[in-house]
Amino acid sequence: MSGDPGAVITSVETYALAVPLPRPLSDATARLTAWTVPVVEIRTADGRVGTGISGVHTGAELLTQVIDNHYAPVLLGAGSEDIVGAWKRLYWLTTHWIGRAGAVHMALSMVDIALWDLAAQRAGLPLWRLLGGAPDPIETYNTDGGWLNLGIDEVIRDLGALADQGWRRLKVKIGKADWRVDAARVRAVRQAVGPDLTLMCDANQRWDLHTATRMLPVLAEAGMDWFEEPVHADDVLAHQRLQTAGSVDIAAGESLYSYHAFTNFIAADALRVIQVDVTRVGGVTEWTQIARHAAAAGLRVVPHAGDMMQVHQHLAGTFLSETPPLLEFIPWTQHAFVHRSVVRDGYAHRPQEPGASTAVAATARERWQVPGVGATAAIRQARRTGRAAVAG
Ligand code: MG
Repeated sequence: MSGDPGAVITSVETYALAVPLPRPLSDATARLTAWTVPVVEIRTADGRVGTGISGVHTGAELLTQVIDNHYAPVLLGAGSEDIVGAWKRLYWLTTHWIGRAGAVHMALSMVDIALWDLAAQRAGLPLWRLLGGAPDPIETYNTDGGWLNLGIDEVIRDLGALADQGWRRLKVKIGKADWRVDAARVRAVRQAVGPDLTLMCDANQRWDLHTATRMLPVLAEAGMDWFEEPVHADDVLAHQRLQTAGSVDIAAGESLYSYHAFTNFIAADALRVIQVDVTRVGGVTEWTQIARHAAAAGLRVVPHAGDMMQVHQHLAGTFLSETPPLLEFIPWTQHAFVHRSVVRDGYAHRPQEPGASTAVAATARERWQVPGVGATAAIRQARRTGRAAVAG
């Protein structure tokens, strides 16, 4: 191995937080009372700690076990600077057979984010600056006012409150069993908030092509900026037909796991808004490749906030595009991190601290760590905690 001896990986630790939500929330697929954040901390010989995160509804232990049992033995003793090399080695382990998408790939993302966090720390720069981004504040849109379990009156009240706080772009969840209920909801919300606010809607994959097609004129009339995950995430042809049939931009990407999946949608002209999520694809490395490809095709890149924006606030605006960057803001886990994201009047201000803003606050771990999830593997004196067995 060549490279800086201080950059050698000496330990890999995993755990998870379950951060309680202020109120129970639903979309068309899930009811949530907490947001679970699997975490990996990768230490190097020079004493630095790189932190990678994910965001899941359930199954945090599936991600941490992939890291503990399969990735950690490969990482220990290796240099942390060869990020692409590490990505390829981990991607092509035998775990590829059971998870080139899903939990295995999300675990790879956690490691990749941790290695980029380390790289930015070693450079003494916030990650966005290491990637060449501009320092300007980035507009955000707010998803936290339009949940599907809220009645129309509650949605209208919450969206009004967010508009008063400075947000000009707001999302409304749809996807009920009867599309006519959603049509009435969309019309009522638009009438209440007026014509100036930008609205987008999200069906979380719960409709078939026929139902989604019937909603297109309703959404166009309501001036929806985009129609998100109208049908099953893998159905390229259905997205293509919807994009061709109506004037509303079709958005998707939070359920796609690879550069190749995105290239299929882009080649088919099936999407206009690319919602690539750094926790779903293979971390910063694969995110930037997808974002550049999508932007080069003239598409909007608006990341899905599986990371609650902690990492995406660094990635937005680091590639060439004529579209101003936009971020999804969901404020559930800001208080779990040492360096909280800063959003004022709807705009995210770039972090100034070196790294990727993923370091977990000690108080968050004390309060919200999930018992029995995670392990530690280290060079010399391998130490075992939790239930996963890891070779040291
Ligand atoms: Mg969505």
